[in-house]
Amino acid sequence: MALATAPTTDIFDEIQELKRTRNAVILAHYYQEPDIQDVADFIGDSLALARQAKSTDADVIVFCGVHFMAETAKILNPERTVVLPDLRAGCSLADSCPAPAFARFLKRYPDHVVVSYVNTSAAVKALSDVICTSSNAEKIIRSIPEDRGIVFAPDQHLGRYLIRKTGRDMVLWPGSCMVHTLFSERKIRQLKVRYPDAEVLAHPECEERVLALADHVGSTKSLLSRAAASRARRFIVATEPGIIHQMEKLAPDKEFIRAPVEGGACDVCSECPHMRLNTLEKVRDCMERLEPEITMDEKLRLRALRPIERMLELS
Ligand code: SF4
Repeated sequence: MALATAPTTDIFDEIQELKRTRNAVILAHYYQEPDIQDVADFIGDSLALARQAKSTDADVIVFCGVHFMAETAKILNPERTVVLPDLRAGCSLADSCPAPAFARFLKRYPDHVVVSYVNTSAAVKALSDVICTSSNAEKIIRSIPEDRGIVFAPDQHLGRYLIRKTGRDMVLWPGSCMVHTLFSERKIRQLKVRYPDAEVLAHPECEERVLALADHVGSTKSLLSRAAASRARRFIVATEPGIIHQMEKLAPDKEFIRAPVEGGACDVCSECPHMRLNTLEKVRDCMERLEPEITMDEKLRLRALRPIERMLELS
């Protein structure tokens, strides 16, 4: 008796077919695993993905990132179905700023302009005057009249970096990212001794002592551009290592080294556990089932939309 052969389906083909039948677009953050980046229609940082989400004409947005990013896509696209491969993909930085506590905090600064980083829940966005990303934060802070006080939330490290860059005094919410605060100043110094030719690239969510060692500080997009344009042949990368996949594509002749973390012995210690909850299988499954879907109360959506639109106007 002849053995029945299982149909050989390739998950990449399945996803391509689902894109067509669902009229879906896949947006992926640079911190996603390489296979997801390779299957995406568009890869970017938070600002680029927000813009892309606004301009798409797809019926379904598959957001390969974390919850606040998919929420932002839904705020901008109420009429489209937005799915996130794993609904548990949260963000420690967004979680560090709960909306009720933030609302109480803001009562102390009634005259201040409230600038919130995009890594926040819709409820925190709704309490804000303008949203920013690491790509446009400096420009947005500079656009605020000098005589106005500013509250900046939730990342205290990005906030301090912006205070140094702009000279503006800001009230900072004491939040941080569990990944970007792991990098070890001591071990990066040791790596620099071993590779004196290497440039250090760092995201402004890193602690000040790590940023002080960096040759270039910027958003994920800015770090990518620097990796491609710099004459250096070797880089120590202090951000989520998912970005190295695009760096190696852009500059295949260069070497990219993950910045080491304090106390971490493994190669995956600096990977964001939230981002990495998404897998290629979950991407396919959420396209088949159209869930988990992001849904939102319309009043909340409209309040969160206003500061996002302000950001898009200003950037
Ligand atoms: S790397 Fe940090 S800021 Fe980015 S999603 Fe993960 S926990 Fe949030």
